[in-house]
Amino acid sequence: MTGAFRESSALGYDSRDPMSAASTIDTLRCSRCALTYDPRALAFLCTCGAPLLASYRLDEAARTLKRGALGGRTSSMWRYREVMPGRGEPVTLGEGGTPLRHARRLGAALGLDALYVKDESANPTGSFKARGLAAAVTVARDLGASRLAAPSAGNAGSALAAYGALAGIPVSLFLPAHTPAPFFEEAEVYGAQVTKIEGTIADCGRALAAANPEGAWYDVSTLKEPYRIEGKKTMAYEIVEQMDGAVPDVMIYPTGGGTGLIGMWKAFAEMESLGWIGAKRPRMVSVQAAGCAPIVRALEAGAAIAEPWKGATTYASGLLVPSARGDFLILKAVRESGGTALAVTDEAMRAAVLEMGRLEAIHAAPEGGSTLAALRALLGAGKIAPSETVVLFNTGTGLKYSAPA
Ligand SMILES: *Cc1c(COP(=O)(O)O)cnc(C)c1O
Repeated sequence: MTGAFRESSALGYDSRDPMSAASTIDTLRCSRCALTYDPRALAFLCTCGAPLLASYRLDEAARTLKRGALGGRTSSMWRYREVMPGRGEPVTLGEGGTPLRHARRLGAALGLDALYVKDESANPTGSFKARGLAAAVTVARDLGASRLAAPSAGNAGSALAAYGALAGIPVSLFLPAHTPAPFFEEAEVYGAQVTKIEGTIADCGRALAAANPEGAWYDVSTLKEPYRIEGKKTMAYEIVEQMDGAVPDVMIYPTGGGTGLIGMWKAFAEMESLGWIGAKRPRMVSVQAAGCAPIVRALEAGAAIAEPWKGATTYASGLLVPSARGDFLILKAVRESGGTALAVTDEAMRAAVLEMGRLEAIHAAPEGGSTLAALRALLGAGKIAPSETVVLFNTGTGLKYSAPA
């Protein structure tokens, strides 16, 4: 095809496009100690055990990555190429570029003028996991990975299976046996090898480690490799673009492993260095399920890290993370932002899903519903003023879940 409808640009990236700039990735820095690593080599966790965070030559990036001057670029998340990892053409299905919906009817029902929903259900494989896995698989392919593997509560596995198929790299997934059937169907369709595990995602992680004793598989477990954060951070870049340079007052984020929250917090710092925004930051609100709320408990206790949650249960499988590797980073971002963390019940999530559907025609995942349930609680407690700009994250489609009995 020709012109604006060339296949590669429709999918979000075209290496022949002079607007497609190069990555300015510089170093991988430990999020806890002072060690740094070379992004051109295989890198997972720091030797101290903490996640690595990518840093870029932002003064160089700022010369071409100018807010308001990106009009000729792809609408996918690769429009921020300078602050994304990977050497060449990305492994992309057009992820990112999702709508920021002004939720007028829902806002009116809650007494808010400026309520927005970042609707991540529009991503390939129906969730924002596409962003993280597209970035991770792009780098894994650059580094010559021969097999990709992950434990997953559902959406991460679907996205990994899809990007693995696209890159032509075999995928092994470890899924809890209670995961809803559509996630198994998706993994099968994309040709992934799936192992069902009795237990939680933590048990799946242990099963993966046992199946991969030499570490020969490229393990994309949450925060083990540094690049899923880079994909998910692009939500914040998009929101700032979609709000014409404004920074929302409050962002309400459903938190499992916390990749998106950590990534967006990092993105705001990058955007300040790039000259896109000033010092203002949103108050970051972390929402968890009442049946699995390790971050909420740690915040309330004033702790720097979160104790693992015992007997975790919720139908929002993306929130069923009893112990997050990046707990200290989530807690730090929430505290530094002046935000908070709170838990909502499965019943409240389900009611919120129905309200989002009825008032805004959004078929939200329960995790997305949790953000609305949290907003209601925060408004009731006077923690959010009616004049404030609030962004909810609907992180995935509701189509893959079955409603609680
Ligand atoms: C994975 C997932 C989450 C949690 O995301 P994190 O960034 O790991 O906290 C929330 N919602 C959905 C739909 C998910 O798939």
